[in-house]
Amino acid sequence: MKDEPDFAYFLIFSHPRSTKAFRCAFLIPAFVAILLLSCSPMAGIGPIGLQPVFPDEARCPELASPFGSQTRYDGSPRPSWAPGGGSHGGIDITLAEGTPLLALAAGTVVKKGEGGQMLGIYLWLRHSPENTGLPYWVYSKYQHLQSLPELAVGAKVVVGEVIARSGKTGTVGGHFGYYGYPHLHLTTRKSPTGEFQGSHLTDPLVIYHEASPKPKESVDPPPRENTVTIPYVTIDGQAWPQGTRVVWPVACRRRQATY
Ligand SMILES: [Zn+2]
Repeated sequence: MKDEPDFAYFLIFSHPRSTKAFRCAFLIPAFVAILLLSCSPMAGIGPIGLQPVFPDEARCPELASPFGSQTRYDGSPRPSWAPGGGSHGGIDITLAEGTPLLALAAGTVVKKGEGGQMLGIYLWLRHSPENTGLPYWVYSKYQHLQSLPELAVGAKVVVGEVIARSGKTGTVGGHFGYYGYPHLHLTTRKSPTGEFQGSHLTDPLVIYHEASPKPKESVDPPPRENTVTIPYVTIDGQAWPQGTRVVWPVACRRRQATY
């Protein structure tokens, strides 16, 4: 296909109608394309492509905006000046204000505080390999909380324990205007040593994926590789699957329950 560049050159520069306007019609879109590519998302944050799957009998608050997404839950683009360079550094779950938020695994409260716009009131937990059964430490951050959690820094929590209430702090007055956007933003980081320094941002679905017991080979049909079956706790405190050490950060309802 050696002829192609010559043909393109002819078309742009040597064509009888290669006026200034004609050349611009080719060159400006090319320049814009290069500009867009150079502003691509920060390395390390990108869509992983994992799909959460909730068991049939569970009704769980689902993902509104996945990790690595370039858009908010309403489809609007994330600004490139935001943390993460316009790529979502966690997952969003749309929730009514005051919804109880659960420790995704046993762990320790390591930090809490109130940030400004886009951060809001937050809580950090640290989970040891013993807490999760994973070969690394996990840090989890719950954002946009309704109020500062009462749990003290250093407090131990068990898996599924209510650690905070969801809210919309840090979302009012920006893109979402006066009403804000009540939701949980959950960030997770993997740490090989347990130290925060040296930890790296990870899609929470990767944590769920790696913490889930691997299906037996006889399972038919085998689950698709990019799906993650989400372990959860019901509103009455029943964990599924039994004995799971990692759960969804919001309780699920059983479908057969009466409301
Ligand atoms: Zn978010």
